[in-house]
Amino acid sequence: MSKEIEKLMQEIAKDEQSSDSYIREEATKKREWILNRADMYAKYCGVSREDVLTSWEQSRSYWYMNYYQGCNQPDLTQKNNVISIAKWKEKGKELFGDNAKEWQFECPNCHNVQTMQQFFKAGVEPNYAYRNCASRFGIGGLTTCKWSIEGLITLPCTYVITEQYKIVKVFNFHEKQPKLF
Ligand SMILES: [Zn+2]
Repeated sequence: MSKEIEKLMQEIAKDEQSSDSYIREEATKKREWILNRADMYAKYCGVSREDVLTSWEQSRSYWYMNYYQGCNQPDLTQKNNVISIAKWKEKGKELFGDNAKEWQFECPNCHNVQTMQQFFKAGVEPNYAYRNCASRFGIGGLTTCKWSIEGLITLPCTYVITEQYKIVKVFNFHEKQPKLF
């Protein structure tokens, strides 16, 4: 067990000794939840539960009870299009080649197809190309859609599991229809 996990387990064990029965029960439930959730992420990424949990612990700076929650470690089985960052990069290369700046992303709202290269040329942060519609920045003369993945409305997108086993939402790749002949 890594020292990070050991420290977490000690914290939980300490709360299980609390004089408050509510804290005791919640601590036990939370341990179960954390281990199950780490298992889920480990399976998606082909790594061990210890790898996931160690990494999660390395970026935790507050109480485990608040840190380990559905909003921080979402249930992957409730989402379509979940992919590890390694597989996502493989897929991008397969579809569009080695140069990530040329990868084509599709706005889920207006279906504009856009690349990091276009954003770069327009003087806009290139990494916005898979999170914001080009129309937000007037790129390519577009102005109407303005959709952003940060907004409240959810449209189909890809959930990438990062190297720190966090979830980042990105636009889907623009996948061309397969040729029939
Ligand atoms: Zn759009």
